[in-house]
Formats: sequence, structure tokens, C-alpha cells
Amino acid sequence: MDAEEFRVQGKSMIDFVAKYREEIGLYRVTPTVEPGYLRDLIPMEPPEYPENWKDIMDDTKSKIMVGMTHWQHPRFHAYFPSGASYPSILADIVGDVVGCIGFSWASGPACTELEGIMLDWLAKMMNLPPEFMHATPGSKGGGCIQTSASECVLVSILAARALAIQALKRKNPDQDEGAMLSQLIAYCSKEAHSCVEKGAMIAFVKLRILETDDEFSLRGGTLQKAIEQDRAAGLYPFFVSTTVGTTSCCSADNLTEIGPICKEYDIWLHVDAAYAGGSQICEEFRYLFDGIQYAWSVNTNANKWLLTNFDCSCFWVKDRYKLTQALVVDPLYLQHSHSEESIDYRHWGIPLSRRFRALKLWFVIRIYGVEGLRKYIRNHVALAKSFENKVKQDPRFEIMNKVQLGLVCFRMKGSNQMNQKLLSTINASGKLHMVPASLNDKYVIRFCVCREEACESDMVYAWEVIKAVATEIEKTEVG
Ligand code: PLP
Repeated sequence: MDAEEFRVQGKSMIDFVAKYREEIGLYRVTPTVEPGYLRDLIPMEPPEYPENWKDIMDDTKSKIMVGMTHWQHPRFHAYFPSGASYPSILADIVGDVVGCIGFSWASGPACTELEGIMLDWLAKMMNLPPEFMHATPGSKGGGCIQTSASECVLVSILAARALAIQALKRKNPDQDEGAMLSQLIAYCSKEAHSCVEKGAMIAFVKLRILETDDEFSLRGGTLQKAIEQDRAAGLYPFFVSTTVGTTSCCSADNLTEIGPICKEYDIWLHVDAAYAGGSQICEEFRYLFDGIQYAWSVNTNANKWLLTNFDCSCFWVKDRYKLTQALVVDPLYLQHSHSEESIDYRHWGIPLSRRFRALKLWFVIRIYGVEGLRKYIRNHVALAKSFENKVKQDPRFEIMNKVQLGLVCFRMKGSNQMNQKLLSTINASGKLHMVPASLNDKYVIRFCVCREEACESDMVYAWEVIKAVATEIEKTEVG
């Protein structure tokens, strides 16, 4: 494809994208395809000779789009939102055409510098303590973009693990590192995302999963007791992963209680706010981050609730040297003459190669303005409240979480089996898409406000569908 053809097809691609978003409601939110469907539609052998653009686009429409779950669909209420805004899509085109692999300052000076500035912007928008910002005078902290929240949690565990091993070495210089590793123990609540368990598994450290209170929040007393028991048993508590905005029910751990305990025992405190972090740009939700000053690291996915396309997992640390001491490997071929006075983000994470992701944040924040983003967040929360009120008014249903942001967990009063049937019938109808969660062994249905332009009529429609299916299920239960 030469530049001229790129111009022509590029313009038609933009039309295709805009039409898709305008007409997304015409698709079924979930496809009707079965596993393996695409094997019957795509040749088993790659083409030996060039094909034409029109055939590729026709196949995209007839074979790919029919097999998609449409995350931007008005009837999509599963998981958490996935940002896919126009300015973010366009910014990605710029990043893609440059095609830079920004692992060091020298490999893409603007790529590295914009990332630092954007993470400072976002930290300010979220009212994070100044120690998390690059530009704060005397700051050792700062932020970067990782691919996923799972990676943010993993690198935090790896950094904390390296610090803990160093501390143990100072105490017992002759002890074997393997023996030290077996002493390390990390903590999270049972509502933490499974990525914490995966991170601990990869890092080969013990993880103690703690009970929450009635509002699915990890409390200081529970953590303190576990730490004391484990220390008495000869273990070395080194890492606590807390969550603000848990995946199952959007609860928040109590940072005000947990923070001082981590400080007392010199434990790395991580705050995973993959979804809920976006809410911090609005003052009224900042109570969820009370105690954030105790955190050593924080993450939020701008690609979840800040209208930025995947991937854009924003990650801040208070002390970048504590992070990089676990991750620096510096061969000659990656070094450059400005290493001393610049940041090389390859030392902040696992991959060497990094896309130019800060452009998306820059475009999004400028096009919407912080106020536009606040409006978007507030609209989602107001709609979740509206949906919650509808559920509350029907005595057949119960609300299962404290609705603070855009997620409502509800169920029919009755058995787990009945609720499974309710959800599977709704999902099979293609009229709505939601996913379940388990709260205290109860099967609950998660309803998340997801799409950018979500409005009250979406809530009304969803509730009508849910009520109608519930009525059908009640009839079959009675019959
Ligand atoms: N943490 C929380 C609280 C989440 O809700 C999620 C995903 O929804 C994750 C971590 C994992 O996110 P990622 O897919 O970016 O690894």
C-alpha cells in the first residue's frame, strides 16, 4: 500500500469506524457464533499473493464483526467500561505511524517525556500526593504506563520482594536466598483481583488472602492480626495489595486503617484502583482514597474509566529507585549519552518494547478537558444510582453491594440456581450482556454502566428486560 492508497483507504476506514459506532445498536450485543466458527470462514493457508483492500474489508464486516462482543454497545453492562473514544483512536494512529519503541529516552524523547508529563497531569487530576509526581521538587517518585493492572501489581510485588530480600540479607548475610524467599508473605483481601494471586505465584511468594467486613472492605484489624501471627511463625510480611473498586462489587479497602500498619512494619502498600481510580478526578469520590498517602504504589487503568483505549494502565510509585532496583539490566546496546539526566522506562517494567501510549491520554484529556471527564464519570454514577433505585423498588430483588460508583450488584431473592438461570437467559437473548460474581457464596449479577454516551433510557430498557425475564423464570419455578 503506498501513501496515495493509504489516503483513500484511510478515509474510508474512518467512515467505517464512525458508522460502526453510530449504528452499533443494530448489532446484537453478543454474537451467536460457536467456538471454532472462524476456522470455517478463513482459509487455512496464508495468501501467497497480494489481495485487494475491498475483499479484506468485506471479510472484516462479514466474518469478524459478526463474531464480536460489542463492548461499546448500549446493552453492554458486563465487566467494567473499556475506553474507546474518538480522540484516543486518532491518537493511536499517530503513535502507530511513528512506530517508535520507546524503551529509553533516546529511543523516543517525546514518547518518554510526554509519558512523564501525562502521568503528572493525571496524578494532579486524581489529587494523588505530590510524592507520586515527577515534577515535584525533590521527588523520587513518578508514573509510567504499563500494559495492564496485572503488570502493575506484578512489578510492585517484584520490587517489594527485592527490597525484602535485601533487608533479610542485612540481618543474615549467610542465609541462602531461597530460604529467605520462603519466609516472605504478601496479603490481599478475598475481593482482590486474581492478578494478585497470579503475581504472587509468578514471584514465588506466599499470599495470605484475608476476610473482609460486611461491606467487602479489608480492615486494619484483620491485617494486623494476620501480620502478627505470621511474624510469630517466623515469616516476613513484605507486601499488601489493597483494592479501591473491587472487581466483584466495587468495594474499597480501608486505607486509613491499613496504611499506618504497613508503615509500622515497613511493608510495601500497593493500591489497585484499576477501575475506580478514574473517579478520583471528582472531589465527591475522593473519600475512597482516604489514606492514599501511605501507599508506595498505585495503579489505575485509564483504559477502563477515562475514555482511553486499551492499553493504558497508569502506575505511580513514590520511590522510583525502589522499583527499578528490582528491574534494571543494562546492556551496552541500550545505553545512551543522556542516561543520567533522563528516564529510561524500560527499567520500570517487564517488557523492553513500549508503545507511544501517552499520546492517547494527551489527546483525551485535551479534547474532553478535566471537566468533560468529570461529567462522564458523574453521569455513570448517577445512572448506576438510578438503576439501583429501580431494583430496590421491586420486592423480588435485592441489592448486594454498596453502590458508590458505576457498578450495581443485584440478585433475585432466591437460590443461586435461579439467579444463574436469570442471567443465562438474559445473556442468551442477546438483549443485554452482564456477568456474574460471587459475594459471600451468593451468586450475584453485576450491572455496570459502561458506554460513553450511557443515558437513562438505557437503564429503563435494561431493567425492563431483566424484569420480564424474571417474571418468566418465576412462572417456570411455580409451574
Ligand atoms: N484489578 C482490578 C480491580 C480489576 O477490576 C481488574 C480487571 O477488571 C484488574 C485488576 C486486571 O486488569 P488488567 O486486565 O488491566 O490486568
